Amino acid sequence: MELAVTEIRNILTRTTGFLKTVTSHSVQPYRGCSFGNALCGVGCYVQHNPYATQGRPWGSFLEVRKNGADSYRLHVDRERRWARKSRGKFGVFLSSSTEPFLPQEFRYRVTEKLLHAMLESPPDLLILQTHSHWVTEYLEIHRQLHRCCDLRVHVSIETDIEEFPGLPPHASSVERRFDAARTLKESGIRTVITVSPLMPIQEPEPFFSRIAECADAVVIDHFVQGDGSPNGSRTERTALPAAMAAVRPDSVDVAYRDRMVETAKQYLPGRVGVNIDGFAGRYRA
Ligand code: SF4
Repeated sequence: MELAVTEIRNILTRTTGFLKTVTSHSVQPYRGCSFGNALCGVGCYVQHNPYATQGRPWGSFLEVRKNGADSYRLHVDRERRWARKSRGKFGVFLSSSTEPFLPQEFRYRVTEKLLHAMLESPPDLLILQTHSHWVTEYLEIHRQLHRCCDLRVHVSIETDIEEFPGLPPHASSVERRFDAARTLKESGIRTVITVSPLMPIQEPEPFFSRIAECADAVVIDHFVQGDGSPNGSRTERTALPAAMAAVRPDSVDVAYRDRMVETAKQYLPGRVGVNIDGFAGRYRA
């Protein structure tokens, strides 16, 4: 993997498109993702974003934005004023195009420094989105952020299958991500499990029952209607749908999502979100 240490002008990006309904800003401590060759990288929506990839294969590069925290400090007051005026509140989604808790984080500490900068000058809302059990490495910082802003941690767990036939291994095992979610929830931090993108679930009832124990809510996002293209055509170009269909042929159809939503509602009534509404914290009755 090609690794570069870079600088960013303004780490606070004003959101556009679907994300606009979730938060006013997104923050990417890295460009690219070193989990790109793991299971979640196969169907990762970001690989279709030319700004993020600049034509490079997903998982082949990582840019470390070493000045992320300084950039946040420099721009936060102006961006907060803009967000409150034009979007109602200053919300940060960390991260929509990379993983904040990559192995490289523990060498470069870009996310950790950013979180400290946010403690000095917090957003109104902070959503931490992760596919990694390493999110709990910064548990004490999360606890402090929880006291000074509306913090929500989203832990992605897209299936209950640890070794998915035909796909590379998970970067962070299903078991360890469940443990991380439980630790966060038991620390009093609002924790949401994002089943995103939904893959075949071997045992739906135990899976959603476990989510109800380890999290405050669940979001179920299918690549059809979820990947930003009409009918999931972007994801159709990846190896994900064929691997899903080999395990459960009906799982590539959006009706599968709706069946999983009905099962989830039995365990988390009023706390099940679907696609972008769920990421925004809008749950189905
Ligand atoms: S961790 Fe997130 S950004 Fe990275 S490859 Fe997986 S889904 Fe994509």
